[in-house]
Amino acid sequence: MVADNLKSILSELPTGVKLVAVSKFHPADDILEAYNAGHRRFGENRPQEFAAKVAELPSDIEWHFIGHLQTNKLKLVLPYASMVESVDSRRLLEAVEKWGSEHGKVIDVLLELHLGAEETKGGFTEKEIEDILSIEHEYPHVRFRGLMGMATNTDEESVVEADFSRIEAFKKRLDKEYDLPDFTELSIGMSHDWPIAVRHGATIVRIGTAIFGNRNY
Ligand SMILES: *Cc1c(COP(=O)(O)O)cnc(C)c1O
Repeated sequence: MVADNLKSILSELPTGVKLVAVSKFHPADDILEAYNAGHRRFGENRPQEFAAKVAELPSDIEWHFIGHLQTNKLKLVLPYASMVESVDSRRLLEAVEKWGSEHGKVIDVLLELHLGAEETKGGFTEKEIEDILSIEHEYPHVRFRGLMGMATNTDEESVVEADFSRIEAFKKRLDKEYDLPDFTELSIGMSHDWPIAVRHGATIVRIGTAIFGNRNY
């Protein structure tokens, strides 16, 4: 099942677009099924669950952390994540910088842009992201790799299109205005909207349900 789903998505995904298989709430055995089918890039969103799976699973997995991260949970995540996709506040950014300097590590991050209609969703405004990028040298232990965003949760394709168009245009503007050679990633698109995201320049898609099935919360 998992292997078939994975194969079918990979066959449709243009080369160059990276797939993060979002395994949150699913057992390690499901991850191993994808692993044994050759997949190596997985995403988790809860620090405790993340750390437990890291300990249990093969060490050549490339883990992406994609959830809200509280500053008191950094030690569960930063030693193992190859990328934190969900940096959504200045406070978290400062804490990641501090952790990196204390541990002699540079952390790859994406800045989450608040997209979509939901007020409850996290993320920075465009202005806040520009303010950060204009002082990125103040964060020598953070490598800014790009943007992450989640579209409005709706079946209306035009609304999703509008959200992805906005983040795509913003990314292009940043590429022009800031000289950041590592700032190459645009992480947009989930199970129900990834084909739209791919049309809007996604370099990373984060897909859970379409690979692992429904989550039992
Ligand atoms: C859960 C989650 C996903 C995957 O969602 P699906 O709809 O299951 O594909 C992607 N991104 C983030 C940030 C998530 O929390």
